[in-house]
Amino acid sequence: MEIFGRSRRRLAFAYALIMCIFLAVIIFVVHVAMNWSMFSEQAQELSDAANGVAEVQVMYLQNPTETVDENRYYKSANDRLFFYIFTEDKQLIRFERASFRIEQFILDVIESWNIPEGKVEVFRHSNETGRLTTVMMTSKKIINDNTVQTLYVGKDVTALYSGLQKATYAQIFLGFIALLIASAIGYFMAGRTLVPIKEAYDKQKQFAADASHELRTPLAVAMASAELLLADPSIKDPFLRQVLEDLKSEVKKMTNLVSDLLMVARSDNNALKVKIQRIDLTEVLKQVIRTMSPIAEKKNIRLTGKNFRRMFIMADEQRIKQLTIILVDNAIKYTPEGGAIMVRLEDSDSAHAIFSVIDNGVGIAPENLDKVFERFYRVDKARSREMGGNGLGLSIANEIIKIHDGKISVESKFGEGTKFTVELKVNLTK
Ligand code: ADP
Repeated sequence: MEIFGRSRRRLAFAYALIMCIFLAVIIFVVHVAMNWSMFSEQAQELSDAANGVAEVQVMYLQNPTETVDENRYYKSANDRLFFYIFTEDKQLIRFERASFRIEQFILDVIESWNIPEGKVEVFRHSNETGRLTTVMMTSKKIINDNTVQTLYVGKDVTALYSGLQKATYAQIFLGFIALLIASAIGYFMAGRTLVPIKEAYDKQKQFAADASHELRTPLAVAMASAELLLADPSIKDPFLRQVLEDLKSEVKKMTNLVSDLLMVARSDNNALKVKIQRIDLTEVLKQVIRTMSPIAEKKNIRLTGKNFRRMFIMADEQRIKQLTIILVDNAIKYTPEGGAIMVRLEDSDSAHAIFSVIDNGVGIAPENLDKVFERFYRVDKARSREMGGNGLGLSIANEIIKIHDGKISVESKFGEGTKFTVELKVNLTK
């Protein structure tokens, strides 16, 4: 059944979506956490280096006679750390240079420095060849008596950040693989979940088919009995005769309902027998008009055929007749006294036969248009019941169309009329 396939796909999709959001959140959180821990670790190192360099610089400022030992500045340094000390009038007095490749960029950053003292910032730069460099930098004021100098300390963390980026890509890749596996499992599990529901559904369909089949015989007996009693001349009491008439009409309604139910149940079980043969569609339409004319006349409705010409198609004659009767019967039911109904053969290409049933009756409101083919759906329950309808007509019509691989559509203007259009294949092969 299509409905189970659809539900299974929907369930699997919902499951995959939840997994996707879940994985994305996890990857994001891990990325942020790794970024944060790496940043805080490096920031700590930079602050320590800044404090160390500043201390040494203060020491030399206080003892100007002492000869400068570069190594003292940089006892804890490694090759990726660099620093620059500027006087107040922007004179560079001491430094451990950054690598030649990035130095100009570092000096540009220092030139436009507006970050509070002690705060660590990440700067990114890509050179002409597109190579990306990531540095972390901080600044510190060195104050001694009346001299104020500024120290900038930084570290090239390109390798660390690219490592982090690679780790994130690896996570995304693994997440994607996990998602694929989860989707497959979701699809499989959704299928398993639907098995008992499908079984229950099949049982219920079988029950409807069996029940309606079994009800046919007692109904036929009840009908025959009512007719027998009505034919008995000894029953003269008009009241009794009326009771029998009512009984007969109710049994007839029930017989119709049961045979409609059986038809629907059989089509669900694919147990509907069809006999596809070459038929003249126009002949079928003419027959239906002949059969239905007396009923239309009772309501003073004009039932006509239009554009009739020979139109041979491959189809099940009885079913096409049944389909047309449903459409014409509805048109009569939902068209007030004195209205008009037309069964028209439409122009079409050589592969299709199209006909429509058009009435100028009560019409169907736009919001109900796509529901009329549902089982037991009736726009106006009271009116439908009064007309002998049970809400199954159009769903049966739809089933017949499905068997014939055709199409049925409806257009309507509320209060003005309705047009049902049926499209059938000329050369149906079954
Ligand atoms: P019913 O037995 O109630 O006629 P159907 O399945 O044949 O059931 O039709 C479903 C509903 O669609 C009807 O109850 C009616 O409200 C609406 N309908 C069908 N055909 C027409 C029509 N020609 N004009 C107006 N309403 C219609």
